[in-house]
Amino acid sequence: MSFSACIVAAGQGLRAGGGLPKQFRQLAGKTVLAWSLEAFDRHPECSEIIIAHHCDFTDQVRQITGNLSRPVRLVAGGQSRTDSVRACLDAVTSDHVLIHDAARPALTADLLDRLLEALRTSKAAVPSLPICDALAKEASEMLDPVDRSGLFALQTPQAFHSPVIQTAFQSVGGQDFPDEVSLARAAGIEVVKVAGDPDNFKLTWSDDFKRMERVLGNDQGVTVCATGFDVHRLESGDGVHLCGVFIDEPLHLVGHSDADAGLHALTDAILGTIGAGDIGQHFPPTDPKWKGARSDRFVTHALELLKQAGGEIVHADITLICERPKIGPHRAAMTTRVADLLSLPLRRVNIKATTTEKLGFTGRKEGLAAQAIVTARVP
Ligand code: MG
Repeated sequence: MSFSACIVAAGQGLRAGGGLPKQFRQLAGKTVLAWSLEAFDRHPECSEIIIAHHCDFTDQVRQITGNLSRPVRLVAGGQSRTDSVRACLDAVTSDHVLIHDAARPALTADLLDRLLEALRTSKAAVPSLPICDALAKEASEMLDPVDRSGLFALQTPQAFHSPVIQTAFQSVGGQDFPDEVSLARAAGIEVVKVAGDPDNFKLTWSDDFKRMERVLGNDQGVTVCATGFDVHRLESGDGVHLCGVFIDEPLHLVGHSDADAGLHALTDAILGTIGAGDIGQHFPPTDPKWKGARSDRFVTHALELLKQAGGEIVHADITLICERPKIGPHRAAMTTRVADLLSLPLRRVNIKATTTEKLGFTGRKEGLAAQAIVTARVP
C-alpha cells in the first residue's frame, strides 16, 4: 500500500518562542520539520512528500528536503489549516494519504504502520489517546467538572483513502475545520481510531521543546558494531588495490573484482550493521558484471543501504594482515580514501597493519587478509 505524506508547515507558530516559526527551529540536532520528513522518507510505503509552506520560507524548506530520497513537492499554504491541507490534497497522486502536523516531530514507523493497517479495512483512521487527567470547564469564576469517559485526544498523522477525503473537502466548501477528522465527520465519513503515541505530542509552548528534546534524544537509535573479514591470494603481478589505493609493487591480488580485501572487509562490516548479509549476496562473484570491478562501488552500495535503513556510519577501523606490500608508506592515503568514501572525518577512520610473524598463509606471503569493524547508529 503506497501513500502520499502531506505535511502542514505553513503556520507562523511564534507562540513557542525562538523567533522563527516552530517548524524551522532546531531540535535535538535538526529542524523540527526535518524530523517528521525523515520519518516519512524512511517508510518503505511512502511514495511522495507534499509540504504546504509559507512562500517566505521556500529556501529553508528546500534546504531541509535536499537530502530526502522520496519525490518532494512544495505547495503554497493557505490562510487556514484547512486551506493548506486542501492545497496538499490537490497534489496527491497515491490512493492513500497521511496528513501530518510539522509540529509533531516524534513520528515513528510503528505509528505509520498502525494507520496503514487500519486503512486496509477503513476509509479513515486517526491516532488517539485516552484522556487520563481530570477535565473541567471554566464557568464564570468556577470550574465545572467534565466527564472524561469516552473522550479521546486526537493526533496526526490522520490517514485517509485519498478520493474519500478529496471528495469530503469539496463537499464542505470553504468552511474551516480544526483538523481533517472534524472535516471528515462533517462530510459523514466514518473514522476509526488507532493507538496514538504519547511522545507524538504537538510542540506548542516553549517548554514543549525541552520535553521533546528528551524524547528525541532518547530515541536516536542504538549504536551497533559489526565486523568483516576477507582474504585474497597474493601472486606476482603489476600492482594491487588496497583500501582504495593503488600500490605499484610487483604483486597481484587474485579475485573476481579488483580483490581489494580491505574494502571487501569494510563492505561486509557495513552490511553487518543493518543485518544485510554479506558482500557475496549483493555482488555475486559468479556475475560477470563485477569482473574487475573497483571495490569502492561495493562500499558505496553498502553505505546506501545503511542510509536507507535510517542509519549512519560513525567509525571504521581496518586491519591489514600481510608481509607484503608494506602498508606504512600508504597508510595516510588509505585513511584519506576510506574517510572520503564513508564521508567521515579522518579521525573516525583508522587503518592499521600487522603480520603473523611469518606464520601461516600471510606469513608465507601466499595471501593477504583484512578485517574491519564498523560502528554505526541505527534506528
Ligand atoms: Mg574479497
